[in-house]
Amino acid sequence: MQKIFNLDGKTAVVTGASSGLGKHFAKTLSAAGANLVICARRMQNLEELKDEIDGEVLVLPLDVTSEDSVKELFSEINNSVGAPDILINNAGTSDPRRFKDLDEESWNYVLDTNLNGAYRVAKSFTDSLLEENKPGSIVNIASILGLRVGLNLASYATAKAGLVQLTKSMALELARSNIRVNAIAPGYILTEINNEFFATEEGQSYIRNIPMNRLGLESDLDGVLLLLASEASAFMTGSIIPVDGGHLINPL
Ligand code: NAD
Repeated sequence: MQKIFNLDGKTAVVTGASSGLGKHFAKTLSAAGANLVICARRMQNLEELKDEIDGEVLVLPLDVTSEDSVKELFSEINNSVGAPDILINNAGTSDPRRFKDLDEESWNYVLDTNLNGAYRVAKSFTDSLLEENKPGSIVNIASILGLRVGLNLASYATAKAGLVQLTKSMALELARSNIRVNAIAPGYILTEINNEFFATEEGQSYIRNIPMNRLGLESDLDGVLLLLASEASAFMTGSIIPVDGGHLINPL
């Protein structure tokens, strides 16, 4: 049975692989047999990650807010390894503020990275598959905040809700081309950049709102990541899968 999760011979692109979840996703996909293309802005971090991984890894620069950068990435990938099979559309950011303190710059920064950036990468990935008439799987990294709201996160929640709708729209239009598009909606996952916050009293109060009464670990996403990336999910498209310790089913 484990064979259905196997990614031998597949090429997976992971955006925002320089830290946090993206870095972990890259390791998980490689352990399942995938060849990797890891991309982000911080090349030094990517080179260090490459050294930690045994399998094939191509390191390329990417700024998802630049259409030129995204196009250049896919032209490099197509020239060196051909159209990739899997996209983990993970790069993202946030700029938490009260709605009354939002300004154009902050709003555009979050929307341009989390929604427009994800669209740009998904579009170039899809174009390269369609050109070669190849099947593929896109895994968008959304958030439970794309399905519910939280304080100080209007731009983030709006961008992730947009990503949820982009996932479903693309899934609908690409199903007959055998390009599957699904999303993971993580809840609060402990990573290197948020561990200090979750140790504070405010952070601890967030954890008490999670029915399972703990933060997710990066490894808690492994199962769903491999499911959506692999043939194990051959009949799934347009699915948004929360991995959140029950956070979304908090009682009213
Ligand atoms: P992170 O900040 O460690 O990772 C984000 C990655 O995206 C980094 O590598 C960063 O460099 C990259 N990135 C940001 N802007 C970019 C740009 N313009 N071009 C290219 N790369 C860019 O945070 P994380 O927690 O690992 O987040 C990864 C994804 O998971 C994000 O989309 C985030 O919204 C989502 N997410 C995280 C959590 C969580 O609890 N950690 C929960 C839900 C969703």
